[in-house]
Amino acid sequence: MPQSPPSERSPKRRRSSSPNKDGIENVIEISPTGGALLVLKELAGVKPVTLQLSQDILEATSNMFASMLQNARLPEEPKVHEVLMYADDEDDVETLYLLCNILHLRNDKLPPRLSVDALCSLAKMVRKYKCTTAVGRATMGWFDRLYSAAKAGTVVVDVWKMIEAAYLLDEPVYFARFAEKWVLEEPLATNSLAAAVKTADDSIKRLAVELHNRRQAQMIALKSDVDLLVNPCSVAFSKSARHYTDYAPGMMPDPDDDGKMSGSICHVDEQAATTFLGSLRDESIWPPLAWPTTLGALVSTIQAFRIPEYDDCDKCDFCEDVKTAFGTAVELIKKMHKERLWGLCLDCFRAGGINAGECRYEHSKPRLK
Ligand SMILES: [Zn+2]
Ligand SMILES: [Zn+2]
Repeated sequence: MPQSPPSERSPKRRRSSSPNKDGIENVIEISPTGGALLVLKELAGVKPVTLQLSQDILEATSNMFASMLQNARLPEEPKVHEVLMYADDEDDVETLYLLCNILHLRNDKLPPRLSVDALCSLAKMVRKYKCTTAVGRATMGWFDRLYSAAKAGTVVVDVWKMIEAAYLLDEPVYFARFAEKWVLEEPLATNSLAAAVKTADDSIKRLAVELHNRRQAQMIALKSDVDLLVNPCSVAFSKSARHYTDYAPGMMPDPDDDGKMSGSICHVDEQAATTFLGSLRDESIWPPLAWPTTLGALVSTIQAFRIPEYDDCDKCDFCEDVKTAFGTAVELIKKMHKERLWGLCLDCFRAGGINAGECRYEHSKPRLK
């Protein structure tokens, strides 16, 4: 059996020879035939409470519980006997009770909803007892309800705490969703993570830094996107695009029969560009100085952007066709934004960049060479 790392405080335990459950008060039969008895000082006002658990399940799901069992058994004691253990005083009893029910697949005992704090507390305990794999899917419903409530605005949810919980519970879908929510909704002027990571361990600190960097990278990517919209417009104001109607740039119109110059400069593109830039400005999409305070507000504005009507029926063969080029750019950017991974992917984060294998959260990624 693997030993618990020396850095972790080993739970209080009492060596005991085969305790008889009948002599113990307030037994909760999580596993009615189980041979592991875990004593909690108190649960829901009842003191003390003993959880009857399965030795096999504890051993199969958690190396830490396996060590506790090993340490609680007398050396000569056969495995089949009951083993009495005492919960770590530091453990939150409600969370420990919940964890034991999850490990024993007691779905009938799981609450339909968990608060953000309760889910975080569970996540930390799961990490402590190293039973992430066994707990995994049981938490999906709780994440889903909190995510839906946060999206609908019916509950104020600390998004950073949810990202941290999803990370500790190795929950890829809600990790990506809450990370996206943070990147898009956290006001650009703030750095709320600075305080959050002061007491965190190294992996959580790295997560906070990566998330912050992600938002910076997305902001730069959005500036490039806006450049893609502005470029077809700016070309209309360049000297190289300046032309007389029906004459290529640089060419002078032919004199008429009287020998007079009769051509006029073509303004079709220029007026299109002015109209489109004006609409980008009105919608606070351009210039970046006019952006809203969150990236999400900008992305929504771009999604909702409608190209203003512009009649370019007077255009000639030498026009740059700003109207078409601008329309193509708008469609391209809307499509890119729908497919973009705004937040972080858990598998890529764990891989330290881009995960070479298939990620559990589906997203597009650059091909690795
Ligand atoms: Zn023209
Ligand atoms: Zn990934």
